[in-house]
Amino acid sequence: MKQENTKSTVAMVICDTYDEETVYEAMGQGVDLLGGIQRFVDPAEKILVKPNFLSPAAPESATTTHPAVMRGMFRLLQDAGCQNVLYGDSPGHGSCRSVAKGLGLETEELYGAVMADMSQEVRVDFPEGMTANEFYFAKEVTEADAIINLCKMKTHSLERVTGAVKNVYGLICGHRKAAGHVKYPNATVFARALADIHRCVKPRLHVMDGIVAMEGNGPGSGTPTPMNVLLFSDDPVALDTVFCYLVDLDPEMVPTNTQGQAMGIGTYQKEKIRVIMPGQQEISLEEVARRYGNPDFDVDRAGVKKSWLSRYSDMMTAITRRPVIDKEKCIKCGICVSHCPVPGKAIDFKKGKDQPPVYDYKKCIRCYCCQEMCPQSAIRSRKRKETKK
Ligand code: SF4
Ligand code: SF4
Repeated sequence: MKQENTKSTVAMVICDTYDEETVYEAMGQGVDLLGGIQRFVDPAEKILVKPNFLSPAAPESATTTHPAVMRGMFRLLQDAGCQNVLYGDSPGHGSCRSVAKGLGLETEELYGAVMADMSQEVRVDFPEGMTANEFYFAKEVTEADAIINLCKMKTHSLERVTGAVKNVYGLICGHRKAAGHVKYPNATVFARALADIHRCVKPRLHVMDGIVAMEGNGPGSGTPTPMNVLLFSDDPVALDTVFCYLVDLDPEMVPTNTQGQAMGIGTYQKEKIRVIMPGQQEISLEEVARRYGNPDFDVDRAGVKKSWLSRYSDMMTAITRRPVIDKEKCIKCGICVSHCPVPGKAIDFKKGKDQPPVYDYKKCIRCYCCQEMCPQSAIRSRKRKETKK
């Protein structure tokens, strides 16, 4: 939310439980700090709530936006009189239905929200795109009047973190995502394509579930860790910047921040961000980090900060980090192979299907789709010197 045309506001509410009533109250507080849900949606509108449904996983794994956070948003929308509310994501592995089912959302009371299918694609031309000028969105995206982005606080091999900016990639139909990684093959270019999605669909409100975050080998195989916060903003870059402060990561090292700011969807400059909490006027980002942060949060902080080299840190990361399979954990399911977007595959069963797949690092574009999709957490990205050639 721009204040005096200069600052973006991020509301932060402390919440240390997924108890539904507590989360609902906390979400009401957060949205009210930004002016109330009516600031973002009109009851007559068709609203799509977009959680992070990376893949079918239990809520405790912190892989997805927690169902309590989704229900909290559905209740706020119902309280505001919204009667046309859909929710959904187009996961890279599995379907929206299978992820929702795993989270217990298919049969429970959802306060009037209806699950979207998200499997039919509609091509949308976007001539204003700076990097991406066409998208294959799920049909429901093109039919929605308003999108509310319910992202999850997680680490990410390509972009270091996944938050409000990255979460919109799920608006692209699942089977198109791998091709997007080929078309936008490094962290910077991919971040620019994400910013173009924001510029195209303009989500009205971003909410981050950081009650239990994922650190380490995210976004699908990391370790759940309590961060006890919910974040709210209409600026996705500012929101992700608060996430960075909470985990002691220089916001400038996150391509979705730098490219998002360069392309006008928000700001990561601390003098342009205002953080507010219930009962307090304002809290500085340094205080956010000092009082509520976790400097031991396991996130990739490698690279040279605040120098010309930092602009190339994502490129350096791509060169120096490579995905590696833990042979003990691998069950030879082939999901990594099928999700590799490189023509001719950069990972394949070269030694037969009774052996783990093998990488061809000369072909690999370091998109980390294989790591993201592995159901056994058998793939990690490692520095080159830590791996055998
Ligand atoms: S997805 Fe994971 S478990 Fe399946 S073959 Fe690949 S590395 Fe092994
Ligand atoms: S091997 Fe993995 S990281 Fe490399 S291009 Fe294929 S999916 Fe991406």
